[in-house]
Amino acid sequence: MRHDFIDQEERFGAHNYAPLPVVLSHGQGAFLFDCDGRRYLDMMSAYSAASFGHLHPRLVGALKRQLERLDLVSRAYHTDTLGPFCEDLARLTGLDACLPMNTGAEAVETAIKAARRYGYDRLSIPEDQAEIIVAAGNFHGRTTTIIGFSSDAATRRGFGPFAPGFVLVPFGDAGALEAAVGPRTAAVLIEPIQGEAGIILPPPGYLAALRRLCDRHGILLIFDEVQSGFGRTGRTFAFEHEGAKPDGLILGKALGGGLLPVSAFAAKRSLMDVFDPGSHGSTFGGNPLAMAVAREAMHVLQEEHLVERSEKLGGVLLDALRAIDHPAVLAVRGKGLWAGVDLDPALADAKKVCLKMMERGVLTKETHATTIRFAPPLVITEADLLEAVGIFRAVLESLSLPTAVSTLSFAK
Ligand SMILES: *Cc1c(COP(=O)(O)O)cnc(C)c1O
Repeated sequence: MRHDFIDQEERFGAHNYAPLPVVLSHGQGAFLFDCDGRRYLDMMSAYSAASFGHLHPRLVGALKRQLERLDLVSRAYHTDTLGPFCEDLARLTGLDACLPMNTGAEAVETAIKAARRYGYDRLSIPEDQAEIIVAAGNFHGRTTTIIGFSSDAATRRGFGPFAPGFVLVPFGDAGALEAAVGPRTAAVLIEPIQGEAGIILPPPGYLAALRRLCDRHGILLIFDEVQSGFGRTGRTFAFEHEGAKPDGLILGKALGGGLLPVSAFAAKRSLMDVFDPGSHGSTFGGNPLAMAVAREAMHVLQEEHLVERSEKLGGVLLDALRAIDHPAVLAVRGKGLWAGVDLDPALADAKKVCLKMMERGVLTKETHATTIRFAPPLVITEADLLEAVGIFRAVLESLSLPTAVSTLSFAK
């Protein structure tokens, strides 16, 4: 049965992913179950989209209640769900106004449009010349404009020509970024912690330095917190670690409560007000089902103290990962319930490690060939978290190492 589904995808689907050979059919909290009924601990949370765990009863309840009232009416009319969502998200982010979209990439596109128009209308940049500074190693989604400023060859190859107007600088180097600011610069667009790059933390002080330099040059600071937002890093938003409140904030993934695609651009009023009727939109953006679920997701985050939980269990996770004494582990880093472990490819193939973890009931996925990520739903228990790390350790220990290396590790 498992093979039927995999063969069917292989035959009738596109081959744009390389999934692990597991066929999932239901989920509950931090657990997933395959079509043969085997249970797995979820260490991926759908790239943070399932941060509240699978089928959270309050989120399912909110969706069901909305389903019995109103489905989709477009933004041609007001609804009794859009305003409450915008107010709640504005209060949570500390920004003035919100514009809901569906996917993260669309919210990034929204931010790019807002920044460019702000550049022309407010910063007097000559028409069609605005530049946005971005960081090497970025991941902001998959549209043609967005992949045009990716620094990853596999992301870009064969998809050009790409839109101009983006300047790439190294991540984590505020000096290099400031050197790239010029008279055409409208904005800086950055992930406060780079997720897909391998959970890369910038040096301490970087986010605060970005805030100061954007103020100094009168340009916009926009953070993409599609993956880092809503408690993932032990703060509601990662920018709070350094009090670096941005002018625009891009959100997605967890905002949909794991049930629906919901994204948003939140911004200060002067930035959001570049949009006038006819300048931007989305048929599904802000639909009542999405708004009801997203609003409940924000309430669950606060009422279940998931941010505090992420901070506390994040400490447990990092300690447990750092306690693994194995020669294949090159580096462990993370913030909140979001950790990356770099493996030495000569000693441990990350893909194979994920496969063996899957066989022992833990689901994760390597990124950039050598990094294993740990990003469980924020509702996970401490015991389940430690079990997942224990299985990771056991898998590493089961790998046959070159003799010289294993002798070395015993000598330690
Ligand atoms: C996933 C992600 C996106 C894109 O979101 P989609 O919903 O897949 O379009 C954008 N930015 C960051 C930081 C992400 O992790």
